[in-house]
Amino acid sequence: MTKIKNRLKSNSPGPFFVNSSCIDCGSCWQLDPEHFAQTGSSSCVHTQPKGQQEIAQAYLALIDCPVAAICAPKELTANLSADAFPIMVTKHSAGDVYYCGWSSKRSFGASSWLILGKKGNVLIDSPRWSAPLAKKIKKMGGINTIVLTHRDDVADHANWAKAFNCARWIHQDDADAAPEAEKQVKGLDALPLGEHLTLIPTPGHTKGSMVAVLGDQQQILFSGDHLWWNKEREAIVASKDYCWWDWSEQLKSVKRLLDLKISWLLPGHGSAHQFMPGQWKEALEKTLRHAERTSPNSNIEDFT
Ligand code: SF4
Repeated sequence: MTKIKNRLKSNSPGPFFVNSSCIDCGSCWQLDPEHFAQTGSSSCVHTQPKGQQEIAQAYLALIDCPVAAICAPKELTANLSADAFPIMVTKHSAGDVYYCGWSSKRSFGASSWLILGKKGNVLIDSPRWSAPLAKKIKKMGGINTIVLTHRDDVADHANWAKAFNCARWIHQDDADAAPEAEKQVKGLDALPLGEHLTLIPTPGHTKGSMVAVLGDQQQILFSGDHLWWNKEREAIVASKDYCWWDWSEQLKSVKRLLDLKISWLLPGHGSAHQFMPGQWKEALEKTLRHAERTSPNSNIEDFT
């Protein structure tokens, strides 16, 4: 009853709705833009799902929501499976990549990703603990390594590490956020983790922020909160407003990624994006030109 009472007026009429506990993390509309959208400082159901396939898609957003702000009548969702996550994002010669869902309030609904590596699976950042997700990942080979890109997105790392008896990597400068992590990246040098995954320290958003790069060609960039894609501006952006450590250092760290050959940008927050060959460098140069024009007060989230 409370949930219905708290239904936001911005929702379209119908059985699915967002209630007032929404924290505006963006997970729902990034996952299912056909039915969810941001409106003001929260999200809403802009179009009701129709038919089983669309209802199943909206149900994924319901499961993913970190604060259970998405509501739907039980009779509509009773037959749907809670083990739909992780869902495939892209195939890659160095390991197929999946979106984990089950976002955590502790990381403000940040995205986490699973790489099915040939020599063991890697979890990039932590979803909230979920028995159905753990069961599914176990069937997919478990988790060998957890990479924590920075202090904000560690969420339930302890549960995942315990369940899969795997090592966690975090940068030394953010290590107080996960002091149990077994491995630390130090300094600014890139660190290869196995044959196909490299960790690159990118201080700025936090002192110990780092990104992970999969592959040598057509690379996949797991960017944490260092940068992301903005669909409206059609640009790579970062945010000075959400920079917790040093904005000028963050801009320097953005430049460090210029020569990568990125085919997919998969961030912790903000939109993911696929790039055709050559587009990454062009897009990042455009963003950096904007930042240099307006430095030191530039906020490349305002980039147009
Ligand atoms: S996933 Fe939940 S908290 Fe996040 S924007 Fe959507 S309704 Fe709000």
